[in-house]
Amino acid sequence: MNGSFRIGRIFGIPILIHFTFLLIIPLFAWIIGSQIETTADLIREIYSVPIDVSLITTGYIPYILGIVISLGLFAGVLVHELAHSVVARQSGIKINSITLLIFGGVASMEEGLPDPVVELPMALIGPITSLFVGLVCSGFVYLIDSMVSDAPLAGVLIFIFGYLGILNVILFIFNLLPAFPMDGGRVLRAGLAKRMPLHRATRIAADIGKGFAVVFAIIGIVFFNPLLLLIAFFIYIGASQETVAVKYSVLLQDVRVGSVMSSPVITVAPTLPVTKVIETMFATKHLGFPVVDRDVLVGIVTVADVQKMSPIDRDAMQVRDVMTRNIIAVSPDTPVTDVLRLMSAKDIGRIPVVDKDRIVGIVTRSDILKVVELKEI
Ligand SMILES: [Zn+2]
Repeated sequence: MNGSFRIGRIFGIPILIHFTFLLIIPLFAWIIGSQIETTADLIREIYSVPIDVSLITTGYIPYILGIVISLGLFAGVLVHELAHSVVARQSGIKINSITLLIFGGVASMEEGLPDPVVELPMALIGPITSLFVGLVCSGFVYLIDSMVSDAPLAGVLIFIFGYLGILNVILFIFNLLPAFPMDGGRVLRAGLAKRMPLHRATRIAADIGKGFAVVFAIIGIVFFNPLLLLIAFFIYIGASQETVAVKYSVLLQDVRVGSVMSSPVITVAPTLPVTKVIETMFATKHLGFPVVDRDVLVGIVTVADVQKMSPIDRDAMQVRDVMTRNIIAVSPDTPVTDVLRLMSAKDIGRIPVVDKDRIVGIVTRSDILKVVELKEI
């Protein structure tokens, strides 16, 4: 992800921090620090343990505690993501990295169709881990209370562990809400996918997720809670993106380039004047042509290549002067989903199809979209 830098590696998985994470820590620290007394009351009530607040309310200590607790919260988020990653890896899924962001953590996994059998335990382990961390923190509260309640630091430690205990249990509850793409939503999809095709299960789970996003957004506006608005936004976007991605992967499963490509292809020679290419573009309504020299593909010329030249220069130029030479080509057996990935990674709209060095067709983004539309019927 752009704007991230690496802080280390756990279980061989690179851990990245996004710059938004660095903005949220001081904000959290300030919020926690400025509400220290009401929070101490709350912790006292929830755990029914006495807290000596004399030290935690002194000077800058509330804000230092704020930083410690924010970092502790994100350590909890990291453990949650690591749990997902470890279970995913046991199922043979490759984990590229874990990134800590403003709204939590994201584990970047290998792309592909989610398998409901794998997804269920993978999604569940995150919230379960958060619950476990919350309970361990709560355990420390009682341990400190029973062993060292007279020590001056006891109030500080009870406050930190008490706070982190509550936060991790909130993390557990919040993640279990069936708001796809959060963990609870993934559990829901895995359950639905046992009874229906994956893309329908995803659509239902995503629609419920979007419903949650709208409710969160309304609550966020009414109670002026920017964090909730941000979460609503990410859930909505995530739900939409995942629906489209899964729809494409499902509908294009087993579809090969050979069956969607356009052929025969209109090709041009490297020596053709650029003005002629523009005429051919107008005549055929194609925005790019493979360039073929004695049956061998040597380049591709597109509108973008032509536009780079000024109109005056174009008159004197030939295709070989403007064409793109390092061509990306695919074979007729290439899965169409790979082609889509290639197109978005390289930001190209058309790819020549080559069989034993000879050009046999061309596949464009719109060819693939047409197939998706037809398959949806
Ligand atoms: Zn999770």
